[in-house]
Amino acid sequence: MAFKDPKEYGKVIALTFDDGPNVTCTPKVLDLLEKYGIRASFFLIGDNIDEQSAEVVKRAYAMGCEINNHSRSHQPMDSFTTRQIKAEVEYTSKLIEQTVGEPPRFFRPPFIAVSDTLFDSVDLPFISGKGCEDWEESVSAQERIDRVLSQVEDGVIILMHDQKFNFKTVEALETIIPELLSRGYEFVTVSELFYAKGITPRTGKDRFIYSNCLQTTNW
Ligand SMILES: [Zn+2]
Repeated sequence: MAFKDPKEYGKVIALTFDDGPNVTCTPKVLDLLEKYGIRASFFLIGDNIDEQSAEVVKRAYAMGCEINNHSRSHQPMDSFTTRQIKAEVEYTSKLIEQTVGEPPRFFRPPFIAVSDTLFDSVDLPFISGKGCEDWEESVSAQERIDRVLSQVEDGVIILMHDQKFNFKTVEALETIIPELLSRGYEFVTVSELFYAKGITPRTGKDRFIYSNCLQTTNW
């Protein structure tokens, strides 16, 4: 995906979705992105990639979405050894590369559980984000909308979930996307977010985990 000149960006925001891919919720998120002509980034669980869901990933990639790494089995990795960490991350990175022809550029640790070993063992920038507890079924679509909109600012990474059957998040997006477009935000991928601001993202070795690409202090 070719990016425009960095000077041409105004306020930017990256929508990100965790815990897919699947054939129930992910396609509905993609339908909405397509409707509004915007892109997002997906952080995949390797074990969720199968023959059917891989087709959904290919569709997302063809739409200009970014495909990133959210481990293989989605366990807290803060007590994992280097070998366990590498097995988790490499499995998913290889599968993503096989599926879309390009390896992931970013890593999001499951549950944002980190350790020095994890930071040192994954050679990708770490991404967190501003969430809305949308993995929790009891959080209504309206609460999801309110929590996302209250945290929006230039350069922010919004963290949502396209886990199976998470239709309240799809419902929330039907309000969030047009509202942010009307506020003048441009939706970009995580790579493009950093690019638009002229920032080279730091890797885990520097102990950075980003919720906003403009952050200047480490973890
Ligand atoms: Zn997750």
